[in-house]
Amino acid sequence: MAQHDSVCPLDCPDTCSLTVTVHGGRATAIDGSTRNPLTGSFICAKVRRYAQRVYSPLRVLYPQRRIGAKGEARFERIAWDDALGASAPSSNATAARRSCRTTTAARTAC
Ligand code: SF4
Repeated sequence: MAQHDSVCPLDCPDTCSLTVTVHGGRATAIDGSTRNPLTGSFICAKVRRYAQRVYSPLRVLYPQRRIGAKGEARFERIAWDDALGASAPSSNATAARRSCRTTTAARTAC
């Protein structure tokens, strides 16, 4: 078992310092560290349970496509290229809409 200094990886302005306990190559506990006096030993409940989320059997590690009715939670694994190909049109459409809103807010032609 070893303890390592770290910092919260989430996009949060607090940037809490962390002490991560590693056992057998896996993080087993995450606590607040006193090394940064600004955050003291504080971390939020979300990050205190981070190791459970990282190693959860429910964590999605690859792209999947729904194969059942919505709500059935039935999915099949698909290749990254297929996932990007399937999502690109809607992502591009969303980007186009957002760009349109921005130009509308700026009172330019849209
Ligand atoms: S541990 Fe929680 S409060 Fe601290 S920086 Fe991370 S997300 Fe923010």
